[in-house]
Amino acid sequence: MRLSKTITTITGGGSDGWDLFIKARKMIAQGHDITELTIGEHDIKTDTRIIEAMHAAALGGATGYAMVPGIDTLRETVAKRLATRTGVPTTTDNVLITAGGQAALFAAFRACLDAGDIALYITPYYATYPGTIRSVGGIPKSVTAEADNGFLPTFEALDAAAAESGAKALLINSPNNPTGAVYGRDTLEAIAAVAKKHDLIVISDEVYDTQVWEGEHISIRSLEGMEERTFVVGSMSKSHAMTGSRVGWLVGPDSAMPHVLNLLTNTNYGVAGFTQQAALFALGLGESFEEEIAAPFQRRRLLAQKALAGQNAIRLSPPSGAMYLMLDIRATGLSGDDFADKLLMARGIAVMPGESFGPAAAGHVRIAMTIPDAPFEAAIKEIAAFTASLT
Ligand code: PMP
Repeated sequence: MRLSKTITTITGGGSDGWDLFIKARKMIAQGHDITELTIGEHDIKTDTRIIEAMHAAALGGATGYAMVPGIDTLRETVAKRLATRTGVPTTTDNVLITAGGQAALFAAFRACLDAGDIALYITPYYATYPGTIRSVGGIPKSVTAEADNGFLPTFEALDAAAAESGAKALLINSPNNPTGAVYGRDTLEAIAAVAKKHDLIVISDEVYDTQVWEGEHISIRSLEGMEERTFVVGSMSKSHAMTGSRVGWLVGPDSAMPHVLNLLTNTNYGVAGFTQQAALFALGLGESFEEEIAAPFQRRRLLAQKALAGQNAIRLSPPSGAMYLMLDIRATGLSGDDFADKLLMARGIAVMPGESFGPAAAGHVRIAMTIPDAPFEAAIKEIAAFTASLT
């Protein structure tokens, strides 16, 4: 079959960074007892009340084609949510419902890029970013956020990358996967200044906006002059433990959304009505429910800090947000890849090598705080003991 270059080059040819994860899964299948700290999936399931709302909606007839832009009630609720939380006036026309944040990312890049156009993204990065850019024929170009700068991008680095590449778009993610960085106002102002200077569209992935442990979540869309050049990606996956429901959204300026709707009509043709109804119900559970979903990660972040106190083989900069920890294991002299492999083989603990999130996270491993507290704490202690044995 004569496949397109666009589709056959989506991964960029390199390793996709999942080797360790696949190895761990194979070991589990062979009966090994492996503690998995690899995946960004809650250890709880979607709340029964949400499933019941989904069930009732399906029985009530929400099984036909749903409105392609999303059901009005959900779009309206998302619009109000953003308006309240960010202060930016937002109407139903600014909101399109998508199959998770991932489909919103795809739609946003499709909206910004023609074949051969360049998009900047920040490394360390969430695994799908460069592939999503390539999947619309774009060329991904990474900008490093240095570990020693708290994984925050700087004006200088972004400005230089934009000037040199002639990029059309810039993707940012705060709270950040994998680093846990939360971009403060200064960082966002710097990004906004670069976007204005180089006429970039900003795609702001805010799927972890309900998981902030230090500071506050600020949407770059709320900064002066940014609304007209920003797409915001949101999702029910992380905030409401609804990863499998595939409900997310893209929020953008009035001028762009009719075009994005044309794309949705010609790609997914809408999201299942009963899952949208379930999302609507879930949003109605209010902030206390979102706090309940986020609480385990905040708790485990503290457990990890305690477990790692008084040792110096591992450096932990406690994450400001999201459900991950980045452990700096450079004192061992090993790469993240080698460390993760040795840890898996010697102690049966699977973590993600930092390198799988880009070179800026080399010498680190990412821990997903997605197993119950007691085994989580035990695993962190085990990792500390293992690291000490290496140094
Ligand atoms: N962005 C980031 C940073 C993520 O970590 C994820 C999921 N792990 C997504 C987007 C996509 O999530 P979903 O499609 O489930 O909304």
